[in-house]
Amino acid sequence: MRHLSLSALAALALATGPVVAAEKPNIILIFADDHAYQAISAYGDTRKLIETPNIDRLAKEGVRFDRALVPNSICGPSRATILTGKYSHRNGFFNNTNSRFDGTQVTFPKLLQAAGYQTAIIGKWHLVSNPTGFDHWHILPGQGRYYNPPMIKDGKQVQHQGYTTDIIADLSVEWLKNRDKNKPFLLMTQHKAPHREWSPALRHLGHDKDRKYPEPETLFDDYANRGIGVKNQDMTLEKTFTPLDAKFTVPAGLTPEQLKEWNAYYEPRNKAFREAKLEGKELVRWRYNRYMHDYLGCVKAVDEAVGKLLKFLDDEGLAKNTLVVYCADQGFYLGEHGWFDKRWIFEESVRTPMLARWPGVAKTGIVNKNLTSTLDLAQTFLDAAGVPADKEMQGASLVPLLKGETPKDWRKSFYYEYFEYPTPHRVIPHYGVITERFKLARFYVPKADGKPDPDYWELYDREKDPNETKSFFADPNYADTVKELKAELEKLRKDFKVPDQMPKEAYGRLFMPPKKKK
Ligand code: CA
Repeated sequence: MRHLSLSALAALALATGPVVAAEKPNIILIFADDHAYQAISAYGDTRKLIETPNIDRLAKEGVRFDRALVPNSICGPSRATILTGKYSHRNGFFNNTNSRFDGTQVTFPKLLQAAGYQTAIIGKWHLVSNPTGFDHWHILPGQGRYYNPPMIKDGKQVQHQGYTTDIIADLSVEWLKNRDKNKPFLLMTQHKAPHREWSPALRHLGHDKDRKYPEPETLFDDYANRGIGVKNQDMTLEKTFTPLDAKFTVPAGLTPEQLKEWNAYYEPRNKAFREAKLEGKELVRWRYNRYMHDYLGCVKAVDEAVGKLLKFLDDEGLAKNTLVVYCADQGFYLGEHGWFDKRWIFEESVRTPMLARWPGVAKTGIVNKNLTSTLDLAQTFLDAAGVPADKEMQGASLVPLLKGETPKDWRKSFYYEYFEYPTPHRVIPHYGVITERFKLARFYVPKADGKPDPDYWELYDREKDPNETKSFFADPNYADTVKELKAELEKLRKDFKVPDQMPKEAYGRLFMPPKKKK
């Protein structure tokens, strides 16, 4: 018997008789939006931007994944991938502009539900169509608001008072309290924070006591050794930062009392900013510090929400039999290369924080450096529950990695794809291959006939150039590397059934007719 894996044992239990809840693990996915690993203290960023003691608990009591990559680095597509265990080109959700999730697809919550789990999703959904596969859903419409949000509860609109991150945490605990205790559960608790425009809870305004944050090495990157991919973008603190981003404009939904508190923090600081008449680098520095105050303020509430949930598990004696995963839908730029936002195959964008705790099964306090992905979560949760995965799923279970074992055939390369163009942020569609050391990417603006134009490649060497400031594609010393990576890329495209030509709607507005001027 001892040679049987946990999933095999669970399957055996399922086949041989009724299973009591205690035998099947509960599963909680705590999901954030745009939470950069640089803003989790367990990841040890050299800038020491913030302390996140509650999220860090998962690293101490579980596994920290250091190379967890996303298949398509934006909100909706990343969520569709987690649910289906499939790439965008297979689940049909390519971009946030005109994609709509096909809820008739097989998803891991549906499979868990069919296997006797009670399932719930609470918080940001962002997939346009209504959730399927959940006994209970209580979601933000679209991007949702930071303050006093309207939400949709099992199809009906409801109005909440308070700060959205706190509300999502409280609703999650409430659902857990009222669940059917005879069944195992899946809870997906999904925060809006710290998504743009980074609006903190009022209690966190001034949390940093006007700290001047250490700057990333590349805050003033001039993109000199890079190509069309990077030079075309529109996501800099210098040129793209809006009055709403800067908090010169008030965010939606505040009550008059809340607005008074909000203004008490921002108004004197905005006045001082206007009087200083900053320009050039000093203006970018001011924006970086304002951005960090607001973004990290949002993260503080997310960390508190994690603490609330973990405490509930402790208090109820549920911690031991519950697999808890924390991750985001992608990474995020915190001033590196002068940017905010995501989308790229480059590291701060493509790499999400991912931490997992499963007492008695997962190792404690270990760091996993394998190429892993949010693509793997569906199969991981199904494996943990002893439920067979769907054949069409394209990831791999992380359960062996949680136990500290890396399967011999674990991936050595990862396929990446990005589509949405030109708005927002003008990041040119690209796809590529990522290995431990290299990234080879093909950037292309698809023409009306669907063929890429121009045929343009970039190569990055993270060993020689960890900040990814230079493309080595044209360097003759890298000719063999380029050849090998191109072959690997073609193999991955074949393995993952990537069509030669994507449907036109994959590219967001690119193929949509321009709006007529009124
Ligand atoms: Ca996101």
